[in-house]
Amino acid sequence: MNILAYRSSGYEGELICVEVDLRRGIPGTEIVGLPDSAVREARERVRVAIRNSGYRFPTERVLVNLSPAGLKKGGAAFDLAVALGILCASGQVRSATQSVLVMGELGLSGAVRPVTGVISAVSVAAARGIRRVVVPRANFAEVGAAGVECEVIAAVDLAGVADAFSRSAYRSERTGVPAAPTAWCGDYADVKGRILEKRAVEVAAAGTHNLVLFGPPGTGKTMTARRLPGIFPRLKLEEAREVTRIHSTAGILAAGSGIVGTAPFRAPHHTSSLEGMIGGGKRLKPGEISLAHRGVLFLDEASEFSRNVIQALRQPLEDGLIVLARADSTAWYPAVFQLVLATNLCRCGNLGRGDCLCSRTELDAYWRKIGGAVLDRIDVRVAFGVEAPSEILTDGYETSAAIRDRVGNAVMIQDERYRNEPFSRNSRLPAALVGRYCAIGDRAAREYGIAAEKLRLSGRACLSVLKVARTIADLESSDGIIPDHVLEAVHHRRFGENGFLDAISTTARRRVASVACRG
Ligand SMILES: [Zn+2]
Repeated sequence: MNILAYRSSGYEGELICVEVDLRRGIPGTEIVGLPDSAVREARERVRVAIRNSGYRFPTERVLVNLSPAGLKKGGAAFDLAVALGILCASGQVRSATQSVLVMGELGLSGAVRPVTGVISAVSVAAARGIRRVVVPRANFAEVGAAGVECEVIAAVDLAGVADAFSRSAYRSERTGVPAAPTAWCGDYADVKGRILEKRAVEVAAAGTHNLVLFGPPGTGKTMTARRLPGIFPRLKLEEAREVTRIHSTAGILAAGSGIVGTAPFRAPHHTSSLEGMIGGGKRLKPGEISLAHRGVLFLDEASEFSRNVIQALRQPLEDGLIVLARADSTAWYPAVFQLVLATNLCRCGNLGRGDCLCSRTELDAYWRKIGGAVLDRIDVRVAFGVEAPSEILTDGYETSAAIRDRVGNAVMIQDERYRNEPFSRNSRLPAALVGRYCAIGDRAAREYGIAAEKLRLSGRACLSVLKVARTIADLESSDGIIPDHVLEAVHHRRFGENGFLDAISTTARRRVASVACRG
């Protein structure tokens, strides 16, 4: 029989074998196998917890070996495994015949505290054929979310676990997986006017196209972006499992919740560090781009983020995952996210609604930060002009629920179309397949040619227009892409001719267009 623990390391961690040896000598406990200080301190917690649970701590010399010995081990999740190992070695608890994965932190009273990464641990164990697990009661729901067949002991305290462990009292019945709570994000019916802008957001959501919203302050960019989660369909089970696994590893899963069924919406502050954004640190924790997996990464005031942070988004946007390499270890996390940026038009914020005080150089620098490379990967660009007062006072706009129905339908069509492909959304179509999935008729092709030439669209921009046109056709359940779909896609790609351009002066228009419209 083996008692196994779990060492988290990116999306996939390792199982660690916990061996305990008792021998005569000066009483004392030693933990070997590259433990960090939190693991070394386990010997104190375990000793007290064992005594407070009505068991005897061995008077012999206790050696705990965590193997493979070459991997660094950190955190307090090894406590329970070490305690059970000692109780088995000293004959106070009957060892089981099968290998068991044991996770849990111990309090001095013997209470078992929750740990992070349970869903990952259970998945990794199941892949190795290990079907028995002991997890903290608070993490019990995560075992169900892993979607693997296994027998569980939900640990409340050490005495209870030791007893259940002796009797092999594992439970395999489960009462459904409780969904994680979802935050209320507001409704699009509250966003007055903005018909064109909301349409652009709907198109972006339907095909998970990256999106930028720009315009002067106070025009509703943030309000519009933050309502995005309200129009996303629920995640598919497989996607939900991936998201839950990352959130569990990061330790941000709400207590007692099982599965995250809705697309995550992450809005890190512009002071976020590179590590916070892409992941890393001593424990190689996931960053915001991975926490936004299968959902949205929203950067409000995008130009205020550091240049490094913005540039670091380029590679995961392309690859859909991030590899974190450190001197002694590497880890990877999935990062398939929809990037949504909101930004003013210039540093002083007045461009587009009044007298802008920025020089041409400042304006250039402002837009260079978001940078051609990232801007180039943004299919949908929405301009927010200053709204006419009459629109703000009008009532009776479409609700998020109505928009969500259309988006959900478009998503279903894409799932069906790409069922044999490694991707499932129009935005993820590789360049080589655009011709096959986004074929357009002669008339549409003619219109498209004229628009592309007039706007001097780059090769990448041309592909992006076709993908967006595909999404627009999907929103209308249309098999073919007609000229109207292409023209609307061109409209979303260019800088926003309607509304916005009327609101700003010709000079300002030319200034912004010259730096922001490239590609
Ligand atoms: Zn300005």
